[in-house]
Amino acid sequence: MKIDVLTLFPEMFEGVFGTSILGKAREKGIVELRTINFREYANNKHQTVDDAPYGGGGGMVLKPEPMFAAVEALTEGAAKPPRVILMCPQGEPYTQRKAEELSRAEHLVFICGHYEGYDERIREHLVTDELSIGDYVLTGGELPAMVVIDSVVRLLPGVLGNETSAVTDSFSTGLLEYPHYTRPAVFRGWEVPEVLMSGHHGRIEAWRREQSLLRTLRRRPDLLEKAELTDKEREWLASVERNEGACRERNEQKSDG
Ligand code: SAM
Repeated sequence: MKIDVLTLFPEMFEGVFGTSILGKAREKGIVELRTINFREYANNKHQTVDDAPYGGGGGMVLKPEPMFAAVEALTEGAAKPPRVILMCPQGEPYTQRKAEELSRAEHLVFICGHYEGYDERIREHLVTDELSIGDYVLTGGELPAMVVIDSVVRLLPGVLGNETSAVTDSFSTGLLEYPHYTRPAVFRGWEVPEVLMSGHHGRIEAWRREQSLLRTLRRRPDLLEKAELTDKEREWLASVERNEGACRERNEQKSDG
């Protein structure tokens, strides 16, 4: 996979692209990561990439010419057009599903904004996707692009040592992941669940699935609507919910009394 990042701050990517999983994926040749300062594509003497907004108001707006020129230079002669992704708080909320979809592409181009925003023509005529990493506003698109790139690259075949670790990650299964434990078996009196030390794979799998369901029910019940569950699992979750609801009611009555 080839990933190009258009940014005014390429130095922000140095540590992230050279470290941990991204660094290894790059070393192994699984991904080619490049940063391009789109100021180089400014068509004026002072290399200006932003200007005041038409209609007045505060903040500066990124001009269309350097952005179009940079993307066009990157894609010249390419057999297949890349996905051009605009990082933007108004974009589609980013999810693991989207990471999986992007991990199947051959070439991704990320556009990192700054200042007040972009000229609307970039949004309308240059990009294929607009992504937001959450309902909050950051100073620039660099950190959001790093988040998306990291989550995509770790899904590429051969990047993670143990291929199964991405498969059981939270959201990949549609659920949150089950709890993990490691040695010691007892720490400050807190014990590891006995089933995990039983060596019985069937029981361990069943326990993990149950814990995954419980954790999702308690922390992110919204995910359960779309998750692939058996009828038996749905019935079990409904009974857990009823029991927990009844317990909560009893406790509230006790504290009222
Ligand atoms: N005025 C814009 C608005 O209200 O939508 C916010 C501009 S923000 C200060 C500057 C840049 O940071 C954006 O163009 C985008 O590239 C990036 N950015 C900020 N928050 C983001 C988020 N939640 N997700 C993705 N990109 C974000």
